[in-house]
Amino acid sequence: MTRFYLFSLGVLFLACKGESQDKEAPQQTTSPEVVVHEEYIGEEPTEPEQTEFYEPVPPVVNPIGNNGAPSDAIVLFDGSDFDLWEMSNDSSEVVWHLNDDRSMTVKDKTGDIQTKQKFGDVQLHIEWRSPAEVQREGQNRGNSGIFLSGLYEVQVLDNNDNDTYVNGQVGSIYKQHVPLAKASVPTGDWNTYDIIYHAPEFNSEGGKIKSGTITVIHNGVLVQDHVEIKGTTPYIGWPKNPPHGKGPLKLQDHGDNSRVSYRNIWIREL
Ligand code: MG
Repeated sequence: MTRFYLFSLGVLFLACKGESQDKEAPQQTTSPEVVVHEEYIGEEPTEPEQTEFYEPVPPVVNPIGNNGAPSDAIVLFDGSDFDLWEMSNDSSEVVWHLNDDRSMTVKDKTGDIQTKQKFGDVQLHIEWRSPAEVQREGQNRGNSGIFLSGLYEVQVLDNNDNDTYVNGQVGSIYKQHVPLAKASVPTGDWNTYDIIYHAPEFNSEGGKIKSGTITVIHNGVLVQDHVEIKGTTPYIGWPKNPPHGKGPLKLQDHGDNSRVSYRNIWIREL
């Protein structure tokens, strides 16, 4: 019915437009979710207006309007404090290092940290750095990770001159998806990750009805292209699919003095 109404409205609009320039254009009163481009159905349009839409109107976002983050982003960490974070194991105050250069560094063997707020689908910006002083090799060199919904890890690793299994290298969805490229900056420099995450969906019985997806851009290079999340990302074992709602953003303490640092973390709920 709504579709028919919209179509009729479009025809009426075009008819009125020809009659009088004084009359106001009819107002569309439908919500953005139900605006259907009915004009694409049926006969080939003959007027340009038939394929031009004015709703939904996108919100205005200042890309640097929130201390350098988009105006509608939640700034999770700007270097001043850990107010929006907690230790993952017991929700206590964060004990990781807060540095003078407005970054944080993993404090070895203290455990992961996570946001107090829980999120569903998000766009995430986060910057990370491996320590300039190289120690150890493979998975034990500058290993950390970013867990969406607290469950699905985008790997952080110092992979420069340091090979490991490719589905666990930097930019991988850990043990699930090999990155499309290795796009790291030199060890000790700051990397950026821009991540688009859509959470999986579950029915009331706890069964997964839709897989989650992740897109990762590493230093401006696409490394994960809307890949399907198969489940959790354990070190040992296959992915599991426990039902969940919104979850925290979690950062990993790999427990081997990897000394990875983070800064400029902001998130936009989608
Ligand atoms: Mg890791």
